[in-house]
Amino acid sequence: MKNSPMSRRHFIKWTSVGIASAWGLGSLSMARAAQPYKVVVMGGGFAGATAAKYLKLWGGASVEVTLVEPKTTYHTPILSNLILNDQISPAKLGMNYDTLTGQYKVIHKANKISRIDPATKRITLDDNSTLSYDRLIVAPGVDFKYTNDYDVNKVPHAWQGGAQVQDLRKQIENMPSNGHFVMTIPPAPFRCPPGPYERACVVADWLNKNKPNTKLIVLDANPDIVVEKDSFGARFSQYGVEYHSNVTVTAVNSDTKTVTVSGAPRASYTAEVLNVIPAHKAGASALLSATGLLSGDWAPVKARTFESTQVAGIHIIGDAQATGVPKAGHIANSEAKICAEAVLNSLHGKPNNSAQKINSACYSPVSATEATWLTGTYSYSASTKAWVKVKPSFAAGLPSTKHYREMFGWSSNLFSDTFA
Ligand SMILES: Cc1cc2nc3c(=O)[nH]c(=O)nc-3n(C[C@H](O)[C@H](O)[C@H](O)COP(=O)(O)OP(=O)(O)OC[C@H]3O[C@@H](n4cnc5c(N)ncnc54)[C@H](O)[C@@H]3O)c2cc1C
Repeated sequence: MKNSPMSRRHFIKWTSVGIASAWGLGSLSMARAAQPYKVVVMGGGFAGATAAKYLKLWGGASVEVTLVEPKTTYHTPILSNLILNDQISPAKLGMNYDTLTGQYKVIHKANKISRIDPATKRITLDDNSTLSYDRLIVAPGVDFKYTNDYDVNKVPHAWQGGAQVQDLRKQIENMPSNGHFVMTIPPAPFRCPPGPYERACVVADWLNKNKPNTKLIVLDANPDIVVEKDSFGARFSQYGVEYHSNVTVTAVNSDTKTVTVSGAPRASYTAEVLNVIPAHKAGASALLSATGLLSGDWAPVKARTFESTQVAGIHIIGDAQATGVPKAGHIANSEAKICAEAVLNSLHGKPNNSAQKINSACYSPVSATEATWLTGTYSYSASTKAWVKVKPSFAAGLPSTKHYREMFGWSSNLFSDTFA
């Protein structure tokens, strides 16, 4: 009975101030705590920032939301491949939390969470301060399983947005006219299924135009191009990309820029620009593991609420969770709303009638003027307690300049819905 309206420590009648009708919880009958419920959100990416915003938009004064995110500017990985072919400035992809804090009254702590104690419902930040929570939402994105120690400044993955993408851009600019760009693609699941193939296309297109004697080689851990095979495969042929599947990376030497592999025609590849995207695991994995949230590399959750199946009171959303839906920002935004509503329902002792569908969308530039798209919807199945594909909703669009233009409308909507 801990969180039911009758048993909780201090309730007064709900005032409708600050609650959005979109929440649909019946605001007139809503009760709220005299002191607001405390929700802490870890991570201010697409999942965490959306959850923080919608908790306040729908929960109003009934909930105090603290977003713990070390960065004051979040550099979105979405569209970041356009930095590599000089089609977007890095500044355009920098998001801040000013609207979340100013308009929605989210509290932003520019720290990392270093410890979670589910027994006392307290978290410790990296400055040793502590915060208590009624609910904790964990959204740390992904981390990487490096094969060995090497210098990521020399061999950047450039897979989390920000400085590494700009480093990779500089390396491409400085490539000799007959140089080699070698990139490796990790085994699924990885963040943004079309993303690595999109990167190979935009870089190959740029090199063909600016350094036509260079060579781009893709070493893919997967048995084939994972998504949009027709579009990416056709572009690889058009651009002269050398593509090998079923390739496992066994070692990386950042001094010689050599990747050692198995399953490829050669045992190792040395390149002027080496872009190794290592295999993925949940972000902040040491902390999540110490808290008992992981099973293998990812955090299992109840699909309906995104609450951990292993630790009560903690929800995991975005790339770190293990429901099997794509690891992508658009669907992370969708998961965050399901989770925010479930958390508010639970705190207010309401039945959870949150929406039963989430959807994913990726736009992929394949040149400086054309893009493809891929989308799909997932529906909650009460019988399997899982998100299942709504089959007719899965579709892809072929490369076109129209899709390229639409990509900016889509991304602008997603960025606004998350951060503004
Ligand atoms: C090239 C590329 C193209 C992409 N294109 C698309 C696309 O077209 N469509 C799409 O939907 N997705 C796309 N994505 C994927 C998308 O960027 C990710 O899936 C999305 O960012 C995941 O959101 P998240 O909130 O789970 O993680 P993130 O966005 O990575 O955010 C996690 C946050 O958690 C913070 N954090 C980590 N540890 C801690 C801690 N201990 N304490 C506090 N905070 C912490 C980090 O600082 C980070 O800001 C693309 C990705 C790439 C690389």
